[in-house]
Amino acid sequence: MVKSINKLRPKFTTHADGSDAVLFMHELVGETDGPTIGISGSIHGNENAGSQAIVDLFRILKDLPLKGRILLLPVANPRAFAVNHRFTPIDELNLNREFPGNPKGNYTQQLAYAIAAEFLDKVDVHLDLHSGTDRPTVDYVYIWNDEPLSRAFGSKVLYRPAQGKDGTVFSGTTKSVTLDKRGIPVVVVELGGGIVDQTPYVDRTVAGLLNMLRHLGAISGDVKPNPKQVVVNEIAGIRPTQAGWLERCAPDNGELIKKGELLGRVVSPYDFSVLEEIPTPFENGIMIMQHLSRNLVESGDYGYMVGNMEGATD
Ligand SMILES: [Zn+2]
Repeated sequence: MVKSINKLRPKFTTHADGSDAVLFMHELVGETDGPTIGISGSIHGNENAGSQAIVDLFRILKDLPLKGRILLLPVANPRAFAVNHRFTPIDELNLNREFPGNPKGNYTQQLAYAIAAEFLDKVDVHLDLHSGTDRPTVDYVYIWNDEPLSRAFGSKVLYRPAQGKDGTVFSGTTKSVTLDKRGIPVVVVELGGGIVDQTPYVDRTVAGLLNMLRHLGAISGDVKPNPKQVVVNEIAGIRPTQAGWLERCAPDNGELIKKGELLGRVVSPYDFSVLEEIPTPFENGIMIMQHLSRNLVESGDYGYMVGNMEGATD
């Protein structure tokens, strides 16, 4: 059993409807000392598979022996989450580009600062859960600064980006240094989303988090061996240039796709003509994100992500 479970509700400002703006956090304190592991979801309000997983994870963890502390931030941006929107509706800003925030800045910067001060400053490890939006479905894990921990989530495809951390949770600290510099391992998971049953993705997220917690020694039990994994260094994001029904041609996420094959096509809902055929960009690619159902897209919407198998490693 955990020693105690505390609901933490630090207030950082007020809303115009009279409600308090608070962070909703749960602190699980173990019976023995150890590091604090922070787990967050819905930094982007329309990526809620991680928030779902955190509910299930909490129900499991509360009855397990625990070493150290776990700090859960299930819904990092409640205003965006409530309306299923990527950005904060109050100022239309992307929370994951505003860290470390500013307590005297606009609303999203105030929120970012509160998360930095009350959550990111207090953790020794940070696991951040993203997913596809409410339409595309995504499946990969970032390798930032702790490859074994990233691998322990158990996804097949991992991505090692060259750069791109400005304003993200890495900058989320009030201590004038990045989480990197503080030596805080950060893993960003991208899993789920789309107009499909989220249960398999939520279940995989819970299983992956439990395995990471075993890997970190926070809970007991054998660490599950990793599946065969692929690390890509390049991901292409592809957007339809026409609006209409986006029809799927691609294989499942995690499967290979070769030059000459189509990712999908855009079909007019009105005259049924094919407005665009969308080819895969690489000689040899691997599917990372796509729309699994026939969704209506605007020109320029998120369409696909394909990893480049050239230069990819095991
Ligand atoms: Zn996201």
